Amino acid sequence: MTPALQKNRPGAAFPFDNSYVGLPERFFAPQTPTPVTEPWLIKLNEPLAAELGLDVGVLRRDGAAIFSGNLVPEGAQPLAMAYAGHQFGGFSPVLGDGRAILLGEVVDAKGKRLDIQLKGAGPTPFSRRGDGRAALGPVLREYIISEAMFALGVPATRALAAVTTGEPVYREEVLPGAVFTRVAASHIRVGTFQFFAARGDTEGVLALADHVIDRHYPALKEADNPYLALFDAVSDRQAALIARWLHVGFIHGVMNTDNMTVSGETIDFGPCAFMDSYDPATVFSSIDQHGRYAYANQPAIGQWNLARLGETLLPLIDADPDSAVDKANVVIRTYGERFQAQWLAGMRHKIGLAGEEDGDLELVQALLALMQAQVADFTLTFRRLSDFAGDDTAEPAFAASFREPDACRDWLARWRERLSRDPQTATERAVAMRRVNPAFIPRNHRVEQAIDAAVEDGDFSLFEALLTVLSNPYEDQPAFAAYMEPPKPNERVLQTFCGT
Ligand code: AMP
Ligand code: MG
Repeated sequence: MTPALQKNRPGAAFPFDNSYVGLPERFFAPQTPTPVTEPWLIKLNEPLAAELGLDVGVLRRDGAAIFSGNLVPEGAQPLAMAYAGHQFGGFSPVLGDGRAILLGEVVDAKGKRLDIQLKGAGPTPFSRRGDGRAALGPVLREYIISEAMFALGVPATRALAAVTTGEPVYREEVLPGAVFTRVAASHIRVGTFQFFAARGDTEGVLALADHVIDRHYPALKEADNPYLALFDAVSDRQAALIARWLHVGFIHGVMNTDNMTVSGETIDFGPCAFMDSYDPATVFSSIDQHGRYAYANQPAIGQWNLARLGETLLPLIDADPDSAVDKANVVIRTYGERFQAQWLAGMRHKIGLAGEEDGDLELVQALLALMQAQVADFTLTFRRLSDFAGDDTAEPAFAASFREPDACRDWLARWRERLSRDPQTATERAVAMRRVNPAFIPRNHRVEQAIDAAVEDGDFSLFEALLTVLSNPYEDQPAFAAYMEPPKPNERVLQTFCGT
């Protein structure tokens, strides 16, 4: 069968309202998706489609064609965005969407503007040596993790659809091709600012900054110095986001500046993974050989990336270069405190504290040190502590999180003593803790099992089951109790691979 762009059929329209395409020409390259031979719809996120004002009936009928790029919906103005970026610390002045194509923007039921983007939809002027395609495994991983993050309450891009293309992609091995459709507050990255700044294109930086303020931070238009305020606001959102990652044990894996949004959403789930047993040095990504993006390094890398953003904004912050640097440095310096405040607030909730005392940080750190020494599972330890908070008989289950169950006795005594001065009742505390300490995370071995079944046997049942479980991470789901369990030694996944 020869791949061909299908003519638009009635009903295949999205309520597009595109703004990025109105920016100067050098911001992007117009690019239509490259059709594929045999598109097949794996999954359509119907609740999300409905929120976006899309016609779910039409998508059920034409989803394979639309989300493969074979049928470009009416009103789309497909384009590849230009951006640059520091990858593992080294700067590339031109990256851009090499395999992603923005179809356009819609405004959802709540008035929020959202990008709809196809990933793996064929080559663009930014593809360099790449084929513009995506393999099925990484597409399923991104689908699972982005929806899990949403359900966990961590800001992230969303999964709208996944399709297989019927075409092979050639990596180290031949793999089935797929296209992922994601929805984002925007796809503007730290690297988008760097693209213009690196060319000395201050007008470009200015136009982009104004666009970002309009789109993500409209209140800042009234600020005395809107561009400094923008830098400050992005730093705030990133501090909050990275704190949330740490609270749920998430390791992004490739925190390059081109994978950091200015909206504060998690983006580009390549080799990302959730930690099982607690170890701050955990790294999964096969390409992160020096642990640059290890679990506990993420806050510092966030600051490093923000410093790169700040540099691009200097000419807008102040006409006098020295005073621009001074002003931007205040933001960078205070990022550490902001991150720490966000992180500690969340950790207090994780151990069931509603109030604040000076010793709380030490109490949290003592638990983490114990978990590390005793190879305790990060997610289960907090979940079992939540159970124990409301039910004294659940202590043995909590203690069993540790290699030597008795090792937690001293910490428990300190914790109980601290709780005696905290305002909540035991029942209130248990309820509150269960809302912040998930029972279910996308455990790496489960994700790999789901991907293997799909890639090797065309069996999507594990993928579907995982999506179901992960859509309610804070509920006990007795039918899915096995999904709470950490991997057995033979199930452990030590490395994850990039989405390319
Ligand atoms: P990522 O690792 O997905 O964040 O991508 C880094 C850069 O490589 C971006 O500019 C991507 O567009 C580009 N890229 C990744 N995979 C491909 C591919 N298969 N074809 C073309 N460009 C790609
Ligand atoms: Mg990327």
